[in-house]
Amino acid sequence: MEILICGSAAAEGIPAVFCNCRVCENARRKGGREIRSRSCYRIDRTFGIDANMDFHWQENRYCLRSDRLRHLFFTHSHEDHLDPYLFSYRRPGMSVVPPENILTVYGNPTVLEYIRDCRFSRGNLDKLRLKPVELEFFRPIAIPEEETEVLPLPANHDPAEKAMIFAIRRQGRQLLVANDSGWPADEVFDALRDWRFDAVIADCTGGTFTNGVNHMGGMVTVELRDRLKEQGSLAPECRFIANHFSHNGNCTYEEIVNFFTPHGIETAYDGFRFTL
Ligand SMILES: [Zn+2]
Ligand SMILES: [Zn+2]
Ligand SMILES: [Zn+2]
Repeated sequence: MEILICGSAAAEGIPAVFCNCRVCENARRKGGREIRSRSCYRIDRTFGIDANMDFHWQENRYCLRSDRLRHLFFTHSHEDHLDPYLFSYRRPGMSVVPPENILTVYGNPTVLEYIRDCRFSRGNLDKLRLKPVELEFFRPIAIPEEETEVLPLPANHDPAEKAMIFAIRRQGRQLLVANDSGWPADEVFDALRDWRFDAVIADCTGGTFTNGVNHMGGMVTVELRDRLKEQGSLAPECRFIANHFSHNGNCTYEEIVNFFTPHGIETAYDGFRFTL
């Protein structure tokens, strides 16, 4: 499978609107990997995780085809992960979506409520050719036609909703997508004991700043890798990738790379691609 990190920022993006902090000023000057859109992921052509306000920009930048997307999982409803208005463009008169083109959207009850309530859908998801599937913690979802199974696990992020991270088995390979994870609860580590991840994408909102509450960063991101490794959840060649960076972490791309490289952790950027 091919994984594309379409966006690598936390909610405000980098450079953030209205902001003239050191990190945002540096990003405006240097461009390239310092410019970050909000986090979301595409796995092959048909499978995605999160779709936010940067979805349109990312689609065109990476020549993605959202008309070919069939399964879209949402981690939670925060605006940097879900733009419910996006789906209104699937309605007749806005886009040509053939009747057989069904997009299955998977999320917690809050995510699905946002999608159902958005302007134009008004509860009628058939009109948008969307099929909603509600996710539960620890209840795996099998998608046989994609040779994929997804296990939703609780994030330690927003108690107001069931924020999730996803353990994914696809075509014989294993991937953990864990942005906005916070430091996971023990029950999450227990659920991951029988997994052997070929790659992990971990939260690093705080950059090099050590933090494990609601988000992660610095040595907490390193500790997550070490804990998963210790309990045997990482394959020997596992790629461990930090993602979801905030300018409030006060780190440039280069500074984050310098911090994590000695720990064997890769630093994501917009357009980071890898194959498992
Ligand atoms: Zn986020
Ligand atoms: Zn800033
Ligand atoms: Zn969030």
